[in-house]
Amino acid sequence: MEPVRREIPNHFSLPRRIGRLGELAYNLWWSWNPEAQMLYSQVDKALWENVGHNPVVFLQKVERPFLNAVTNDRYYLDLYDRVMNNLDEYIKGEKNWFKDQYPDIRDAQIAYFSFEFGLHESLPVYAGGLGVLSGDHLKEASDLGLPMVGVGFVYNQGYFVQHITEDGWQETRSQFLDFSQMPIIPLLTSSGKPLMLYVDLPGRRVWARLWQVQVGRVPLYLIDTNVDENSPTDRQLTARLYSNDPEVRISQEILLGIGGVRALRALGYQPTVWHMNEGHSAFLVLERAREIIATQGITFEQAAERLRRENIFTTHTPVPAGNDQFPIWLVDKYFASYWPELKLTREQFVELARHVQTWGETFSMPVLALRLSEYCNAVSELHGKISRQMWHFLWQDKPVEEVPITHITNGVHTRTWLARRMGVLYERYLGRDWLQRLDDPTLWAQVENIPDGELWAVRQHLKRKLIMFANERARQQWLSGTRHPVQIIAGGVLLEPYSLTIGFARRFATYKRGNLILRDFERLLRIINNPEMPVQIIFAGKAHPADEPGKLIVQEVYRAVKDAKTGGRLVFLEDYDMNVARYLVQGVDVWLNTPRRPNEASGTSGMKAAMNGVLNFSVLDGWWHEAYNGSNGWAIGSDRDYSDIETQDEADARSLLDVLENEIVPLYYKGRSAAKLPTEWLARVKESIRTLAPQFCTRRMVKEYLQQFYLPIMQEVETQEERV
Ligand SMILES: *Cc1c(COP(=O)(O)O)cnc(C)c1O
Repeated sequence: MEPVRREIPNHFSLPRRIGRLGELAYNLWWSWNPEAQMLYSQVDKALWENVGHNPVVFLQKVERPFLNAVTNDRYYLDLYDRVMNNLDEYIKGEKNWFKDQYPDIRDAQIAYFSFEFGLHESLPVYAGGLGVLSGDHLKEASDLGLPMVGVGFVYNQGYFVQHITEDGWQETRSQFLDFSQMPIIPLLTSSGKPLMLYVDLPGRRVWARLWQVQVGRVPLYLIDTNVDENSPTDRQLTARLYSNDPEVRISQEILLGIGGVRALRALGYQPTVWHMNEGHSAFLVLERAREIIATQGITFEQAAERLRRENIFTTHTPVPAGNDQFPIWLVDKYFASYWPELKLTREQFVELARHVQTWGETFSMPVLALRLSEYCNAVSELHGKISRQMWHFLWQDKPVEEVPITHITNGVHTRTWLARRMGVLYERYLGRDWLQRLDDPTLWAQVENIPDGELWAVRQHLKRKLIMFANERARQQWLSGTRHPVQIIAGGVLLEPYSLTIGFARRFATYKRGNLILRDFERLLRIINNPEMPVQIIFAGKAHPADEPGKLIVQEVYRAVKDAKTGGRLVFLEDYDMNVARYLVQGVDVWLNTPRRPNEASGTSGMKAAMNGVLNFSVLDGWWHEAYNGSNGWAIGSDRDYSDIETQDEADARSLLDVLENEIVPLYYKGRSAAKLPTEWLARVKESIRTLAPQFCTRRMVKEYLQQFYLPIMQEVETQEERV
């Protein structure tokens, strides 16, 4: 194997005393360490905001006098030294949780594959929840010291930028990412050429190069086909996420699954554990079988038997139609030269993933993954139940409860989503070691110790920050001269900091029902415009560019937002991304989620909100079905299923406004003590933090993956090695 060069680009000229700001930019560790971000923002706050919190662009653009100024600032230099010490200790330090707990496990390696990774807004190669979950998973693996590597794509057009017309129609604008301006590192051969891998697609060989994102201690390798060796069309293969063209899709999934295994080999990895986050990467099981068959001359069956014990498959899709599948003719076209290498006939190959649908047969990626993985899981308790029903046909000899799909409920990476000021409160009242005990319920029980006044002051501060953010965005739109005045109002200029504020932000997929709260619009208007107890609602979210019904819901919401009768109390923030998400989950009072049950596999944004002291108000679907305890937020509707969508929507919409009007609004405004603190509200906030923060964090989640899946595989592999 050729040695690989991974050199952190050093194109900044920085004063020597703060020279490591360049190195720091290329380890996303900064993205979950508020003090590390302050090293940039304190140099030039305005520029830090203007460059979208991208430290690489920041260092390219920052003016020398600003840099010189901080080299004379003792407070800045103290901060700098502290952050760099923390970074060194984190990266190079010998101590970490995994080594402490499992000193005997030495050579294990976990490969984690995902179609998208949402790590930070400066790396916009994610579409939504699946990507953010993958990003949070890697960050937590890094914090715990798990030997993990990630594999995914870097899309040079990212996900699209959302622009809303005056009439509420979502326009999509492409962005073209310049990798030299992103915190990613090119991988080169010893002669300085890009490190390449290839896959064979019909009639041609497609090449791809590799980039590395350093996520704390965990490397993430990203595949990119935009290289000279490829035809113009193939160069575009990794340009965008979630193409609707099945040929692009199958090519991408071949690149991820088959190319991803080759990427790891080119880099010298021999993973012991293979984790497929959703079915997009399931072709990796075939490539691994091919490797074994080629070297050991065994049958596919024998190879599959051996490797399936090392595979983990996490499903995220509770509806059959939402699953990734290909027409059989496409599989013929793309795999006819591959199945002989597996010593399989066409029939046998198709059988591996055959899914008989009402409209015909397909080659289903989740079926392939389920068949060839020993460990399969759904992402919440309710989703586990739905998944066992949905895939029961693959295990017809078993009763449905014994279908081997368990659940590990999703979590969120606490430090990524927690407001800095909330962190300060936790450090003061939960204990200095709080970061080591994020999944410990006894730690969070101490939330009772936080004085109401201090908690309320932070909550108010975060809401003001959100409103200032919306105002500033609206100002920039107004200055651009391209917006109608009503769009400026829709952007949030009439928001005010003392009103109960509700957030609704997520992808505008139809099942998420972004318009549910608008069903009885007159009643909603009466509630929000009550002069004694006003309510504001902030919407944000993108519809997939090919999802016309989703775009119609965006439009319906936007038209309601623009309606003068709302008094500017309904707001739509354009271009939802991780940055907008942070402001919202930290700044609102109530987090609303209205999926059509049981379509929400888990949902994670409500978890981000909860740890920040925001109360959840949601349908009992996904994570909320197991999280809601009657006093840590509110439920919409009840714990039941409907056979008819119309009845379900009607019942949920009524329940939503009933609870909002009769419980949430009065609790927020009434019963305030003489000091004007909403004590009952804050009691509920504390109950929410106490019960949800330890349970719905990635600390708990990744430890569950470790205990239930990673460790059994690692231990089995170690014993096998001892035997040889
Ligand atoms: C957390 C997050 C999501 C996922 O939110 P859900 O509640 O699962 O819909 C989507 N997009 C962004 C930008 C996020 O930060």
